[in-house]
Amino acid sequence: MADAPRIRYVVSGCLAGLACRYDGGSNPCAAVIRLVEEGRAIPACPESLAGLPVPRLPCELAEGSVLSRDGRDLTEDFLRGAQLALRTAQSRGCTAAILKSRSPSCGFGRIYDGTFSRALCPGEGVWARLLREAGFALFSEEHLPPELGGKGEGED
Ligand code: SF4
Repeated sequence: MADAPRIRYVVSGCLAGLACRYDGGSNPCAAVIRLVEEGRAIPACPESLAGLPVPRLPCELAEGSVLSRDGRDLTEDFLRGAQLALRTAQSRGCTAAILKSRSPSCGFGRIYDGTFSRALCPGEGVWARLLREAGFALFSEEHLPPELGGKGEGED
């Protein structure tokens, strides 16, 4: 009997087609969905793991705090969800992540700048930071891993 495929990647749930985005939508990425279907990746959404509702107001990172568009400070919720998502990834043996670009949880390289104007600034989302600090290789749907035909690690 053939060995089960190894789960290497944890992926942003919305890239895997889960309707976990703040507006109830998703960001389906065919390469990511294929990885999950092949048993080589597991999806996770830190904001859902934090118990935040769908839909919810959009949030952005500003000076180290996560603020929703109505000014509420959700930093603790985002951190709790990111820690849960990190533990999920580690417990399944993942060593790499494919993350939704620009998100205050999942983005890295450049993220929305906290002004809710779609402007970007250098930075990384809360979950992306924890994954990086834990030694995960980080990719995004715009910089897929080389084995998926992408250019590899890089800024969004
Ligand atoms: S937290 Fe990450 S996985 Fe969840 S909806 Fe936002 S970008 Fe997608």
